[in-house]
Amino acid sequence: MATLQHEKFLLMPTSSIPSLTTWVETPKHTDFTIYSLPFGVFKSKKLSPRIGMAIGDQVIDLSVLDQEGFFANLFLPEGIFLKDSLNELIELGKQKTKKIRERVQQLLLQENEELRTHSIRGKVLIKSQEVEMLLPVKIGDYTDFYSSMEHATNVGKMFRDPENALLPNWKHLPVGYHGRASSIVVSGTPIRRPKGQFKDANMDKPAFGPSRSMDFELELAFITGKSTQLGDSVSTKDAEDYIFGMVLFNDWSARDIQAWEYVPLGPFLGKNFGSSISPWVLPLEALEPFRVAGPVQDPEVLPYLSCSKDHNFDIQLEVGLQPEGQKESKICASNFKYMYWNMAQQLAHHTVNGCNIQVGDVMASGTISGPTPDSFGSMLELSWRGTKPLVLESGEERSFLQDGDTVVMRGFCEKDGIRVGFGEVRGKLLPAT
Ligand code: MN
Repeated sequence: MATLQHEKFLLMPTSSIPSLTTWVETPKHTDFTIYSLPFGVFKSKKLSPRIGMAIGDQVIDLSVLDQEGFFANLFLPEGIFLKDSLNELIELGKQKTKKIRERVQQLLLQENEELRTHSIRGKVLIKSQEVEMLLPVKIGDYTDFYSSMEHATNVGKMFRDPENALLPNWKHLPVGYHGRASSIVVSGTPIRRPKGQFKDANMDKPAFGPSRSMDFELELAFITGKSTQLGDSVSTKDAEDYIFGMVLFNDWSARDIQAWEYVPLGPFLGKNFGSSISPWVLPLEALEPFRVAGPVQDPEVLPYLSCSKDHNFDIQLEVGLQPEGQKESKICASNFKYMYWNMAQQLAHHTVNGCNIQVGDVMASGTISGPTPDSFGSMLELSWRGTKPLVLESGEERSFLQDGDTVVMRGFCEKDGIRVGFGEVRGKLLPAT
């Protein structure tokens, strides 16, 4: 039976991915293929906030499918898709959300006529340009890690000691800090240049004003899908049961404010004025065919951080910078597979002391830098603290971001002609008030 075979692929993907085609017309290089099917929240002039899925340049209104009985076998709570966040849907558990994706994938298959020939098809598929994407989850807590060895090494070289760029703890635990959930915004929301204190090496006292070193950080974040009780810990083995999916994440950073304030407690106002996430949450199972081994960890990690399987993913990442009224220049190409500490280790470390997590928490990776200068995930590194300004396609130079600059981050996986992607996270930098 076609259905069984199809479900088998979603639940247990192998290295050879069966080729699926859909009757929905999709743009040639779309991230939102029949293999992606991410969840998001949208509204339109006519429609109240609700949960959808992306396919090509269209959005699937899951609430309409539900009302028409397409999910009847799944026994979902009434109105589960008529929500302004994914939290309650995620809370149903992975078994349910996987089945919803499987069912939608089945409905979109070339050979399936259930939706293709149904009279409500026009209400189910909505052009992406006609909808506004909303923040996909209600975020309780946000943590940012610092898990790329290349990034930590680059920053250590620039700000501390080139000979001892990594601090002694770095290879023993995934360093992180608690960020600010209230200022996480959805892609497309402009970011205001923050004001704050800074003190350059050549200044004898601090000054106050708009940041002069505005930067982005190329990151991915995972969204937790299962809560724990205070006192509980999650092992690396169980960690992925607690990870619902992933989004692109821009951790906007004011380097001058950060450099002056961070001692001894770490990032604060240089970071918490805004972070941007992509609107589509790609469930972890969509990334399964792209699972790869991470870098060898040497020295050996403590037992609670050791892993018995691969937890890295081959996700290609890029950053574009578009000055006001000009063309976009690609300024970075990196990959999530470079990360030294993986998501399972991050979550195990985060909870090893009994810290509880809640559905909808956001845990970001830290800047994802690769080994080569064109793969560095921040302006700080790309321009090497302003000493090697980037030359954009327009001929303009950049050491840090200027007002009016738009930063676009993209992420996708590609293998055997199959693409699974996140789309983009985009934000424009506005002048300080
Ligand atoms: Mn960061």
